[in-house]
Amino acid sequence: MHDDLVVATPEGLYCPPGDFHIDPWRPVSHAIVTHAHADHARRGHGHYLASHDSEGVLRSRLGEDIALQTLGWGEVVDHRGVRISLHPAGHVLGSAQVRLEHRGRVWVASGDYFVAGDTALHGEVSGDLNATCAPFEPVRCHCFITESTFGLPIYRWPTQASLFADINRWWAANAEAGRASLLMGYSFGKAQRMLAGVDPSIGPIVVHGAVDTLNTAYRAAGVPLPPTFAATELPKAEMKRALVVAPPSVQGSPWLRRFGDYSDAFASGWMQLRGARRRRAVDRGFVMSDHADWPGLQRAILATGAERVIVTHGYEAVMVRWLQEQGLDAGAFRTEYGDDALEDPTAEAAGATSPPTPTMDPAVS
Ligand SMILES: [Zn+2]
Ligand SMILES: [Zn+2]
Repeated sequence: MHDDLVVATPEGLYCPPGDFHIDPWRPVSHAIVTHAHADHARRGHGHYLASHDSEGVLRSRLGEDIALQTLGWGEVVDHRGVRISLHPAGHVLGSAQVRLEHRGRVWVASGDYFVAGDTALHGEVSGDLNATCAPFEPVRCHCFITESTFGLPIYRWPTQASLFADINRWWAANAEAGRASLLMGYSFGKAQRMLAGVDPSIGPIVVHGAVDTLNTAYRAAGVPLPPTFAATELPKAEMKRALVVAPPSVQGSPWLRRFGDYSDAFASGWMQLRGARRRRAVDRGFVMSDHADWPGLQRAILATGAERVIVTHGYEAVMVRWLQEQGLDAGAFRTEYGDDALEDPTAEAAGATSPPTPTMDPAVS
């Protein structure tokens, strides 16, 4: 429609009255960036607008010299008559939803967000939250632009209490048996959630350099993480009890030699699929995602009160059909955003395989 607040263009999502883009994949003059994952935060834009919490990570990834304006949560800035504000998305440090208001219309673009398990919206007591960033905040709007990375009914995350109990049990059993525990997950976001959730009394924690760089940004932003060591700092005898947190790119690399005997595990939402652990060739798969699961997507979308919903990156067709069944005006935007695997450049560099395509997995039920 000609008066839409956000439209899809070859450069990315675009706000015509405000003349700016949201998470554009091609260089533009004015970009609002929802979060610092590589597929949403690209180099080369003239001006960046992002959340205050994302500043450290954005500058470390895009360069200290980018022209960046930051906003606190809920702070409003006017750009050519469009009132812009940012609201927490609960996905990674600084991840924001973008609220746009123009002539009485309100649109919200979600970026990536995390809502799962017992997470309650509308101020009820909440359970499952991402402990490493501000929790997803539902924002009332006329039109909600939602991600759908895990927008299939098979995706239902375990509670974090049971997830971390499983991880701790696995780590403790390995420590007891005298072998290190290698837990692989993406270095920005996933690694910090793993660190914040495990029980550091089981043994020492070693982190890969790529994880350590991001830990520094998280700690600087006030996110509490347990003490960690570089691989070279820990005496060999203590390696046997260590939890090693590293990006998937270390799999099969010489970096692992120093740890001697170890058990390995991979943490990802894709581990929900039968066969995913085997394809990754690891001992254990832990179902852990920084994206909303199927019930989380549904709850988050309905909480906005939006009568119109536009679905981006993920299983657009399935989500659009469900939304239409709820009586909502639903459509999709084609975007160039990736998924978890593509959000970590080190994973790509190491030639890590893409996540499986769930619709083609015979074990899906
Ligand atoms: Zn992301
Ligand atoms: Zn995304």
